[in-house]
Amino acid sequence: MKILSKNLIKLRDIKTFKFKKAMINYQHVEIVNHFMKKPLILVINCGSSSLKFSLMDPKTGEESLNGIAQCLLSDNANISFKVNGEKQVLALLPPFDHNTAIVELVNFITKNNLFEQITAIGHRVVHGGEKYHQPTLITPQVKNEIAKLAKLAPLHNPANLVGIEATEKVFSHLLQVAIFDTAFHQTMPEKAYIYGLPYNLYQEHGIRRYGFHGTSHYFVTQRASSLLQKPLEQCNFISAHLGNGCSISAIVNGKSVDTSLGFTPLEGVVMGTRSGDIDPSIIFYLVEQLGYSLDQVNTLLNKESGLLGISGISNDCRTIEEQLLAGNKRAKLAIDVFCYRIAKKIASFSASLDNLDGLIFTGGIGENSNTIRSLILNQLSLLGFKANEQLNEEIRFGKQGNINDTTSRPCWVIPTNEEWVIAEQTQHLLINKGM
Ligand code: AMP
Repeated sequence: MKILSKNLIKLRDIKTFKFKKAMINYQHVEIVNHFMKKPLILVINCGSSSLKFSLMDPKTGEESLNGIAQCLLSDNANISFKVNGEKQVLALLPPFDHNTAIVELVNFITKNNLFEQITAIGHRVVHGGEKYHQPTLITPQVKNEIAKLAKLAPLHNPANLVGIEATEKVFSHLLQVAIFDTAFHQTMPEKAYIYGLPYNLYQEHGIRRYGFHGTSHYFVTQRASSLLQKPLEQCNFISAHLGNGCSISAIVNGKSVDTSLGFTPLEGVVMGTRSGDIDPSIIFYLVEQLGYSLDQVNTLLNKESGLLGISGISNDCRTIEEQLLAGNKRAKLAIDVFCYRIAKKIASFSASLDNLDGLIFTGGIGENSNTIRSLILNQLSLLGFKANEQLNEEIRFGKQGNINDTTSRPCWVIPTNEEWVIAEQTQHLLINKGM
């Protein structure tokens, strides 16, 4: 609408009839183009050495382009773009940083005539603390708060801010919105987020459980409610996001009431390289008896444990499954521990629910590994789950659907789409603010 009124004012100022007629034709074309081109949201997910992006129609989730800049801050830095299924990789120039990546992205977007269609930018921000439980318009004050919250997410929030600031430089005319990974779990009750620690650590220092992967749990929960044809506010699910990072969430009436990741994304089930829950005394033992420094313990628990640590082979589930088939015992142990811990966590969430509409698998492993899904479901027969092995084998590689036996409670595989949630929520916020 803005474009129409602006053009009408311009028209009033035009003096000669001929020029006026030419302008009307020109403006007609402009207006038609404006309304034919669909508005797109640029979604940015910035890590310390990577920057993922997607240019998306928030209504349909259709991507005009996507890609990733990787190995940033090193001389291997590169950026890859995918448009219409075709991939193109470019080396980045010095200083190989996030700004360089954004400049290349803008060049690419402009070359593909997509720049004008971008209406706003949605940023994934990992930690929103207790303050942010909604999509939030980014202002200098919000950036300050994201910076303050870096003490709770030192690896993620500073990187997210770098992405926001690099993007602001080139898209200064557009609004930027933050979508927080922790937001969906802000509905957890106190009993689920308070640790068994002195209460003042929560009051004075914010030490509590926050949960992560919120946009993913939100997306699959919505999808499951439409598959079930039941209003989201009446749906109870357990969702298992199993990727390199893993989290299980209990959803009551469409809202998160508990989740396995906690103060940081280290708590909970065994993951690709993260240990998940351990007895905290192991840390004292490592430091006092084995001479580890705190930095070494941090690296051990976050980067050297999980599937990688147990198997001694890889954090990649595909590689471990190959080794399992080849008869490798440590690969088998890694998969057994992984699945048993996940099944135990799912079962423990029966304490959070009065009834259960179904279980959802998502994430790289949840969407693709029939082996892992089958092992987990087999351990949950007491809760009424049983896999249909044929469906379980079929529903992989981007397919969505039920994998349960007819005698079982419902169990779905739902490919997640965090970018779509970010694009949609960014668009909603703009509409709600009348922009
Ligand atoms: P994500 O972090 O969601 O990208 O998931 C990464 C994980 O998904 C890695 O452990 C991959 O090995 C795993 N994954 C992807 N495809 C498959 C597959 N076909 N079978 C087993 N695991 C897979």
